[in-house]
Amino acid sequence: MLFRSLSLNHTNYTPVSDLTVVALCFVILVLLVQTHVRKDNNFKRMMGMLAAIVVTALSNVTLQMLITSGDTIRYAKAIYIARELHNISVIAYMYLHISYLREPLWLNDKTIRLYRIATVTLLACFTLSDVVMTFLNVGFRVGRDGKVATGVNLFIPLYGLFLVLVLFLIIRYRDRLVKQIFHGLLAVNLLSWFLMFSQGLHRQQSFTTAAYFFPIIGLFFIFHSNPYDVDTGAVSSSYLYQELEENLSKDHKVLIMSCYMVGFDKFIKESKELKLEFYDFLRQNMRRGVLYRFPHERLIMTIPVSDHKDHRFQVEKMLSDFGRKHKKFNMDYKIVICEMNERITRPHDYPLLIEFVEASMSLNTVNNVNDDDIDKFFDSRYIINQLDDIVNTHDLNDSRVLLYLQPVYNLTTGTYDTAEALMRLRLDDLGLVFPDKFIPLAEQNGQIHTLSLIILNKTCRIIKYFNSQGLDIKRISVNFSAIDLKYDTFCNEVREIITMNGIPFEKIAVEITESRNEQDFNLIKRKILELQSLGIKFYLDDFGTGYSNFERIMELPFDIIKFDRSLLVEMGKNYSSEYMVSTFAGMFNKLGYAVLFEGVENDKDERNCVRMKAGYLQGYKYSKPIPAETAVTFLQPLSNSQTKK
Ligand code: C2E
Ligand code: CA
Ligand code: CA
Repeated sequence: MLFRSLSLNHTNYTPVSDLTVVALCFVILVLLVQTHVRKDNNFKRMMGMLAAIVVTALSNVTLQMLITSGDTIRYAKAIYIARELHNISVIAYMYLHISYLREPLWLNDKTIRLYRIATVTLLACFTLSDVVMTFLNVGFRVGRDGKVATGVNLFIPLYGLFLVLVLFLIIRYRDRLVKQIFHGLLAVNLLSWFLMFSQGLHRQQSFTTAAYFFPIIGLFFIFHSNPYDVDTGAVSSSYLYQELEENLSKDHKVLIMSCYMVGFDKFIKESKELKLEFYDFLRQNMRRGVLYRFPHERLIMTIPVSDHKDHRFQVEKMLSDFGRKHKKFNMDYKIVICEMNERITRPHDYPLLIEFVEASMSLNTVNNVNDDDIDKFFDSRYIINQLDDIVNTHDLNDSRVLLYLQPVYNLTTGTYDTAEALMRLRLDDLGLVFPDKFIPLAEQNGQIHTLSLIILNKTCRIIKYFNSQGLDIKRISVNFSAIDLKYDTFCNEVREIITMNGIPFEKIAVEITESRNEQDFNLIKRKILELQSLGIKFYLDDFGTGYSNFERIMELPFDIIKFDRSLLVEMGKNYSSEYMVSTFAGMFNKLGYAVLFEGVENDKDERNCVRMKAGYLQGYKYSKPIPAETAVTFLQPLSNSQTKK
């Protein structure tokens, strides 16, 4: 039926469908231009397809108008031109459509070339046959009598074949598509086919372009429609990476501005006033650039960097506007400004760099990322990778993790009989790395536990070594993070490592800091009691820096309370501070805890501590933390009774 030759002068054609398609193409065009989409090659193909469909529809309307004009002989030339225009635009559409599928279906060069060749050959054969048939008077022609005959309309079966090709591609490579996308593409292409078929059944002519248009709607909806955040008008974060990737590949520079605002996510939903001010801010400041919304109260804006530096002016204005508006709402913020940099070639690194810089900023400040920040950022990335490797290797003797010891002076015996274990890393690219550089990273990235176990193991080994050298070490305290104690395996691991090294449990102390959290407290308490029953000692670290809840402290069986250096510093300032610190120290002494002062740097510090009835002193006055083996010089020989043991 589709092939039948019929006179077209009285067809079942109304231009409504073609005109609707044209209108819809413009709607999509407006949406594409208004919303932020990635201007990649498929975006261009989508634009091309829309243009082709508009030409197809308009040339079809013209063709049909001319055919039904009643003066086909006069318009014969125009009729042929309109028809050729129509055919060429359909061909262009089909070619673009096949090329479009390359990216979502991950077709390699060879495969896509094959399909392109197949499409071009198909199109060329049909076009050629169409022309030849016109000449042979069996195809589309305007007769001498003014009657127009479609002849064998090859374009409809051609489209049928084309759809088969598209469906074949989608189904063959369905594994490469998300299920929902596969279903979406399948549905629109089948509907297109169905529309073509049913219009044929009803001897209709009006819906051909609509059928071509169907798959475009699918592609637009799936790949180009972009969910805008309704509250802020921002684009979802994943699009930032696409934009940056594109800018990186084209060597375009952009300025990236991040604004982290505490409570923003909640406020923007709830406060109409904030919304209005926010929209006003965007209207004033968002002429160029794109706004992205990130999870966790963050907005990131990209601004193209132009040669004449006016972006800097834009940034200054934005910051001063922000400052003015901020006064009204008083949300705490951190603003980081970062110019795209050739040193950072992975789009995903930019938000990481921003977060990295933010971590060391105070609230309500603005920071411009500089080379030094980038150096530090790369160092931290390197450290994280090395820590990952340490975790994966899981060697309790890993040579990258170094044990340092800081001897502790015992005021009662006048000897150095205990020490604190402190960790260092030795990494190929950075040399010796201190805890302030890697402990926070290890805690954030879940690597701290392995490090703690390595240090515990090395501590046990060094105790064994000291004893083998005939030296006395009463105990070494090892720092553990709150994170360590949350592991279910914590107690068993500690016990196993100590047992494996064959040293008495009493030789090890665990240093922990106070925890604010009620649940953590109960959990920590249970674990402390379990390990304490084996003989392991417990120290409360950094007393005086936290919130110091005495009731809680006394619920836990600590052996030593370590007074933080800040208390020593504070004490030197005035009498009331000294009174406070001495009261704390006296109270702990009365309750049976020993007090250790940390950060004793000079004679004055030492005198103060002695007055406070300290039991132990630790600080640079006696020794800095030193490589574990070198601590031998501080130790006393084992007494005979100990040696015998
Ligand atoms: P912390 O546990 O409070 O360790 C004491 C820190 O004070 C050490 O810094 C030490 O070198 C420093 N210190 C010692 N004497 C003095 C002094 O007289 N004056 C001053 N100003 N400082 C002094 P370090 O070794 O850099 O360690 C810093 C922090 O890193 C430690 O603080 C601890 O919280 C953490 N850390 C170190 N090693 C480990 C470890 O093996 N595991 C865990 N979880 N944390 C560790
Ligand atoms: Ca400590
Ligand atoms: Ca401490």
